[in-house]
Amino acid sequence: MKRIVILGATGSIGTSAVDVVRTHPRDFRIVALSAFSSKEKAEALAREFGARAYVGADSAERAVEESDADVCLVATVGLSGLRPTLAAIEKGMDVALATKEVLVMAGELVMRRARDRGVRVLPVDSEHSAILQCLVAGGEAERFVLTASGGPFLDGPGDLSSVTPEQALAHPRWKMGPKVSVDSATMMNKGFEVIEARWLFDMPYEKIDVVVHPESVVHSLVTFVDGATLAQLSPPDMRVAIQYALAGTERLPAERAALDLVKLGALTFRAPDPLRFPCLRLVKDALAAGGCATAVLAAADEWAVDAFLKGKIRYTDIAKVVEGCLEKAPDMVCDSLGAVMEANDWTWKHLSR
Ligand code: MG
Repeated sequence: MKRIVILGATGSIGTSAVDVVRTHPRDFRIVALSAFSSKEKAEALAREFGARAYVGADSAERAVEESDADVCLVATVGLSGLRPTLAAIEKGMDVALATKEVLVMAGELVMRRARDRGVRVLPVDSEHSAILQCLVAGGEAERFVLTASGGPFLDGPGDLSSVTPEQALAHPRWKMGPKVSVDSATMMNKGFEVIEARWLFDMPYEKIDVVVHPESVVHSLVTFVDGATLAQLSPPDMRVAIQYALAGTERLPAERAALDLVKLGALTFRAPDPLRFPCLRLVKDALAAGGCATAVLAAADEWAVDAFLKGKIRYTDIAKVVEGCLEKAPDMVCDSLGAVMEANDWTWKHLSR
């Protein structure tokens, strides 16, 4: 029986995680959960599971500080996941990580703290879960291939400058929150996943490729030193990866749609178009720059996506805003929570002038 804290319990990942717990009452117990604003929903969940509910701005940190658990699922939005992640590591909890910004902004720091404390950081994202499932087979990995659905703008429209938030939010495969939906459309989300993979598995970013795979059945692949490539396949369902992480890489039975290869017929792969998806290049630029550059990248993207959703900037301005920040950002060493917050503050100040 694993005791679990769920941070961001009413969001899309949190809701899927709750579903996993509901179907495995003997394997998991929710001891505490947090929600940023959905008070009634959070309290209803707390009643259902006999857990403590925390709601409000610092709810995630309090949920960690005031509970004793084996695993902390971090599924909050954006940078707000960083402090509670570090707090969970400090308390000796394994972290099941869904919030991308945590490793994007502070990957080196978080993984070092986890190593020092002897806890695991388990990916909840389908791509990183796939890589982990391949790595469990053993052997030295030579290359990762992250698959990407390509999002709503893979093939059109030709001119992306006038696309609306509604169009950007209409992801063809996954139902997700607004920020991650827009990040999927721009492929910044995939870029974040490159950064996460770099830190989660200590793989140089030059050895991490992105391939567009619209069917979203192959979740990622690992090529080993002997030339063998392993892939993990499953129908698009976030609960597979969530369950694998919560169970600490153990495989628990679950009634889910099985993969039907004959029905699928064919799986396709192609290279991402660098002109339609400039964010992928920006991510590699930020990784090459090192230090706090990926923190600046994530902060600038958060600002830009919010501005786009509010109709203040165009869709194509998202990449331009990020690029401008990366160019102007001073070199900053990224060795503490304070340094990450400083990089974040610098970016917001720079953009709010
Ligand atoms: Mg993903």
